[in-house]
Amino acid sequence: MTEEWDIIVAGGGSAGLAAALTAARGGARTLLIERQTKLGGMGTNALVHTFCGLFHPDSSAPWAWLNAGIPQEIGQAMMTQTGQAAPDLMGRVYVLRQHPSLYASIADDLCSAESNLTRQSGSEWTGLLQTSSGWQVTTHSRGVSQLHRSRALIDTTGDATGARWLSPELWTIAPPERLYRPAYVCSLPHVTGEHDEGWRLAMSALIFKGIRSKALPESAMGAAFRDSTFAQEMFMTIDLEAGQGQWDPFDPTKRAEVETTGRSTAMSLWRYLREHHADFQHCPPPQFPAQAGIRETARYIGDETLTGDELAANKRFENEIALAGWPMEKRENARGPKFRYFDQAQPAGIPAGCLKNSRYPGLFFAGRCLSADHEALASVRVMGTCMATGQAAAQLALKL
Ligand SMILES: Cc1cc2nc3c(=O)[nH]c(=O)nc-3n(C[C@H](O)[C@H](O)[C@H](O)COP(=O)(O)OP(=O)(O)OC[C@H]3O[C@@H](n4cnc5c(N)ncnc54)[C@H](O)[C@@H]3O)c2cc1C
Repeated sequence: MTEEWDIIVAGGGSAGLAAALTAARGGARTLLIERQTKLGGMGTNALVHTFCGLFHPDSSAPWAWLNAGIPQEIGQAMMTQTGQAAPDLMGRVYVLRQHPSLYASIADDLCSAESNLTRQSGSEWTGLLQTSSGWQVTTHSRGVSQLHRSRALIDTTGDATGARWLSPELWTIAPPERLYRPAYVCSLPHVTGEHDEGWRLAMSALIFKGIRSKALPESAMGAAFRDSTFAQEMFMTIDLEAGQGQWDPFDPTKRAEVETTGRSTAMSLWRYLREHHADFQHCPPPQFPAQAGIRETARYIGDETLTGDELAANKRFENEIALAGWPMEKRENARGPKFRYFDQAQPAGIPAGCLKNSRYPGLFFAGRCLSADHEALASVRVMGTCMATGQAAAQLALKL
């Protein structure tokens, strides 16, 4: 049995959620395929807990939404449910703290309201064929294989999955030592106290002391802490080197190493902090994510490839379909980010050619696997921008 759809969206992260909602609201019979049980991608399953890229980059002015439509709708829903009246100003940028459980629940509600949208969870996209009328997609779920056909397909898997089946000329990946590092994010309940910049500096010093005395592993060096919007809950993000030159996000053995290192580092930090810091004294074990956070894998090569220089120069395009406003946040090692800001505190454009390749009509891509160079990806991979490019990919697909 082959099921027929107008638009298939593969991958239900920030980009895929926005794409599926846009497609369904545009009247298309839409299928959304997701291997995990929650929608939201890294924003739910990897516990990434701030929405970046939702706001205009001019932080000397009052905050303003950057891309209308789904990014604003999700951002607004998160503000309402977390009780935030405004985003936080962090240095030179506005950021919205988001709660991964609320994000999953908002995604459920938004999808359930769309009668044109069918959602599969625990379903792996495993194959792709180009046909005379569009695309044939294979999925596997619990030993059951299904075939689906559609006139348009939107790849929002973050991994350029379709491109890797279609042609080596349709995708690229940075060398292992340059890939933005993976990280392990946990939530820590019952953390007391106030946590300002001074607190953060003291924490770094305490962790450094722990590493020097061998009470903590070296990997604890990449730990950073941020308050949730809910009292006494913190998120701990541990940036991992992941073998640096040996890191391969497509190797399941290496991914298992990242997961294990993330968990063991988190447990060491939890034990150490409970003993050495009063704020963590009553903290139960960390709540682990469903998966480690993977920042970068493969990207598509589209009709156009957005570059870091174009973003820095605030370049605008006649055929732009979304705006980028987040600085290029490069994380090529676990020692923290290197930022490259846009020349002006103004947005830059993302052209339509970054979401399609004319040799493959009816195929679109969005989110962190769109067509951008390694440096530009450091900006457009943030969730607010992924929502905007996912929405735009569906708008292009609806015009077919
Ligand atoms: C540690 C870390 C910290 C970050 N910090 C921030 C931050 O503070 N703010 C911010 O805005 N962004 C941040 N980011 C970036 C951001 O989270 C991601 O770039 C963004 O979530 C990408 O969205 P996406 O929809 O393109 O991909 P993803 O969120 O990766 O979603 C892709 C989805 O596709 C699914 N999928 C993949 N392959 C298949 C398949 N074959 N079959 C079925 N389903 C499939 C996956 O399960 C997943 O749900 C961070 C990322 C990491 C890893």
